[in-house]
Amino acid sequence: MSSDILIHDVIVIGSGPAGMSAALYAARANLDTKVIVGPQLGGQVSITYEIDNYLGIYEDLSGEDLTKRMVAHVEKFGAELIYDEVTGIELDGPVKTVRTYSGELRARAVVVSAGASATLLGVPGEVEFTGRGVSYCATCDGAFFKGHDVLVVGGGDSAMEEALFLTRFANTVRVIHRRDQLRAGPQLQERVFANPKIAFIWNTVIESIDGDRDVTRVHVRNVETNETSTLDATGVFVFIGHYPNSNLFKGILDMDEHGYLQIDDRMRTNLAGVYACGEIADPTWKQISTSVGQGAMAGMAVETWLGALESLPA
Ligand SMILES: Cc1cc2nc3c(=O)[nH]c(=O)nc-3n(C[C@H](O)[C@H](O)[C@H](O)COP(=O)(O)OP(=O)(O)OC[C@H]3O[C@@H](n4cnc5c(N)ncnc54)[C@H](O)[C@@H]3O)c2cc1C
Repeated sequence: MSSDILIHDVIVIGSGPAGMSAALYAARANLDTKVIVGPQLGGQVSITYEIDNYLGIYEDLSGEDLTKRMVAHVEKFGAELIYDEVTGIELDGPVKTVRTYSGELRARAVVVSAGASATLLGVPGEVEFTGRGVSYCATCDGAFFKGHDVLVVGGGDSAMEEALFLTRFANTVRVIHRRDQLRAGPQLQERVFANPKIAFIWNTVIESIDGDRDVTRVHVRNVETNETSTLDATGVFVFIGHYPNSNLFKGILDMDEHGYLQIDDRMRTNLAGVYACGEIADPTWKQISTSVGQGAMAGMAVETWLGALESLPA
């Protein structure tokens, strides 16, 4: 994409459920809609093995399948996907500029839906062994750990879903959690506690990850007793939370102390014509359905905003 002098109706930043939903509503309203895909087509959901909590879809739908359907759906109604990443923006004024690695685009409205990313443990060895035993996605990497002894770090829904998934491949799955109880929902808790392959190491944190070429062991500390020990494991799957991908918008869009964009009930940010939706603006719900819902609202709000602009006297 080279610099383009056209002024589009709307640029959607991100191709996860929120962005694609916004794009669908905007494109169906006949707006000239561009979606900057970003580093992960389909967003976080694209790596999900199976989706069973999105209304009307309860069997045999993977994140990859949903991504294909989202792409086909928005393209059917005329949205154009641009396989690039946003590197800079100017969002004030009536025409917004969005810069990418390969050029820049302009539009009268922007929907920010850049989602969230996995939080790192921040311990020695983590970065060095990423891809060589350390993973943030069991559904992507689980199959490489057939017959291995793996660790899962975290106590929330994602950690438990991924622990269950790993039992299909791994010999043992030990969950390391810094507290003495899980945050995951009751149904998931029932399933993990009933699974004979899953064991729990409570009140414990990883202090470092060690190995040769690949991970072979981790050093842990019990936070109650301060006792340290070493666990043999060849896989360390980390699911300790997510942070919003909002760095680009610092000093431009209002955000809370954790970096989540602040929006009103019409998905409006503090700048006219700039909307946000999905996990970049949602510290609480973090679901496909809630992100899609916010995306739909953002798409409709953009249509209303542009319609109102057009009806103003010249
Ligand atoms: C392993 C896993 C399993 C999950 N399973 C489920 C489930 O079963 N059911 C459920 O409801 N939810 C599930 N979720 C949560 C769900 O995936 C998210 O709530 C949802 O994807 C959030 O959508 P989003 O569009 O707001 O953000 P994201 O999905 O995070 O998408 C963000 C988009 O922004 C793009 N982007 C980022 N930076 C830039 C940039 N600089 N320029 C342009 N684009 C950019 C990315 O490429 C991506 O396309 C799961 C999440 C994970 C990680």
